[in-house]
Amino acid sequence: MCGIVAYIGRQDAAPILMEGLHRLEYRGYDSAGLAVVRGAALRLYKTQGKVRNLEHLLPQGLKGSPGIAHTRWATHGEPSDRNAHPHTDAASRYAIVHNGIIENAAALRAQLTAQGVEFRSDTDSEVLAHLIAAMPADTLEKAVRAALQLVTGAYGIAVVDAERPEALVVARQGSPVILGVGDREMFVASDAAALVRHTQSVVHLDDGEIAVVRADGFETSTLEGGPTVKVPLVLEWQAEALGKGDFAHFMHKEIAEQPEAIRRTLSGRLEPRFQTTHLGGLEMAARELLEVRRIKILGCGSAYIAGCIGAQLIEQLARIPAHAEPASEFRYRNPVIEPDTLYVAVSQSGETFDTLAAVQEVTRKGGRALGVVNAVGSTIARACGRGIYLHAGPEIAVVSTKTFTCTAVAFALLAIHLGRLRDLSTGHGERLVAALEALPDQVAAILANDAAIEPIARSIAGYHDVYFVGRAAGYAVAMEGALKLKEVSYQHAEAYPASELKHGPLALIDPQTPTVVVLPRDELFAKNVSTIEEIRARRGPIYLVTQPGPLAVAVDGLLEVPSSEPELDPILLNIPLQLLAYRVALARGTEIDQPRNLAKSVTVE
Ligand code: GLU
Repeated sequence: MCGIVAYIGRQDAAPILMEGLHRLEYRGYDSAGLAVVRGAALRLYKTQGKVRNLEHLLPQGLKGSPGIAHTRWATHGEPSDRNAHPHTDAASRYAIVHNGIIENAAALRAQLTAQGVEFRSDTDSEVLAHLIAAMPADTLEKAVRAALQLVTGAYGIAVVDAERPEALVVARQGSPVILGVGDREMFVASDAAALVRHTQSVVHLDDGEIAVVRADGFETSTLEGGPTVKVPLVLEWQAEALGKGDFAHFMHKEIAEQPEAIRRTLSGRLEPRFQTTHLGGLEMAARELLEVRRIKILGCGSAYIAGCIGAQLIEQLARIPAHAEPASEFRYRNPVIEPDTLYVAVSQSGETFDTLAAVQEVTRKGGRALGVVNAVGSTIARACGRGIYLHAGPEIAVVSTKTFTCTAVAFALLAIHLGRLRDLSTGHGERLVAALEALPDQVAAILANDAAIEPIARSIAGYHDVYFVGRAAGYAVAMEGALKLKEVSYQHAEAYPASELKHGPLALIDPQTPTVVVLPRDELFAKNVSTIEEIRARRGPIYLVTQPGPLAVAVDGLLEVPSSEPELDPILLNIPLQLLAYRVALARGTEIDQPRNLAKSVTVE
């Protein structure tokens, strides 16, 4: 779940490992540690808490290579110094870092204990160190391979052997491992963010793959021993994109980057000449796309909510029944997979475990899946084999903002493409393409109006509970607004379809419970105004996100956005709610970029 960094080569490993750990801090973690090999011995340092605590532990000028490092997000055993990784065998010859969960750890621990092994931590991971040491094998690769035959569960691991420092061994099953190819040096990380400063040339391991990594290259093979062929991929991210620039928080920087990010999502994909869009990665001919009868969108958290907007866009523009469902629910209900349904998996990182498992369920049953993903070459992108990359650039804040927007834009591209193969008129297609082209500047205009949000944020920061309501696509905007607020401000925020308010939650409306109403000026405008009146009658404070125009009701705060084509309005209506969540969190003094209890890409079940 959390971070791995490893290095082998001509430099000392420690500074590279520490820099890599800092790059992974955004993911959220509870302890950090590293081990380097020096003179046939391990130098091991680990601690509960931040990477900066580990920095204080390290001796000046720590020498040695190879080395492995870890940020831990505890699953087995409390966050503590002794449970931090790396873990070693009894002789402190092998050191291992592990992301994921070894499911049969308890049974293995009992067996090893019966054989006299003394455990030094409560983690599931430590069993791997002892197993590797116990294997009768003449190379580290063979020992790791044999040990992995005995475990079930999910892992990304990196292992060093103090007595054989010429290579380190990594393996992956369900938890990402990426190799970075350098000049007489090799890097390893669980996340490309830790590699971009050193190399743009990367290799993603597949599940069930193991790699022997030397300073001058690597070999990969399956767990069973068959060699595999890997072609390095060029990372499109630049190291500068990983800094905060002039912003106090990544969340704010990423909100501000949205005009540019949308331009990149749109780049090369608009075809005004045919009033449509072009999506090179779909890998499905027009004929195949015409055979699609239904679309099912799968994602978790904000990716799921962006999928709800996507489903609306597809139904409206392509008139194909479309529905979004949390990927985590889908895969556990033995879903019926139909050959004429197109399944769309949405994940910023492309590593979300539940979404990947849903894709595997779909493809195992003969269905077709398409990925809407930000991280190029990620596991979900590769498992789908076709899809739409967001090209939004790295998103470091745990909560998603720009990738939410870019996912909705990607769905607009898909919906227009599917629509223009069917009944979407040239005139409508032309208006939509022009509206997409105008989006970046419209978003910039909303961002420039940040000052209007400040006083509203200050009043909302004082409440315990906040409702968000909207109708149809406005409801998805309300869901995302509520999710963003609860994630970063730790306030209780709940989204309801506006029409459902009087069927229950209206009971909770009082002067202490404000409601944020998403109010596009569409055919449902009058109905939404009635909802506002109902809340008003119970003296509930009202804050509106709407478009310019006359308004006959009194409200406590007003956020205005420019109008787009009606189908694209949700994308713009959401932007002030991102700023609102950010400003409320600032007012409440919470940890904005790494909210408590949350992690960036949820690679465990
Ligand atoms: N399951 C391991 C532990 O609790 C690894 C957790 C992680 O992925 O960071 O130590």
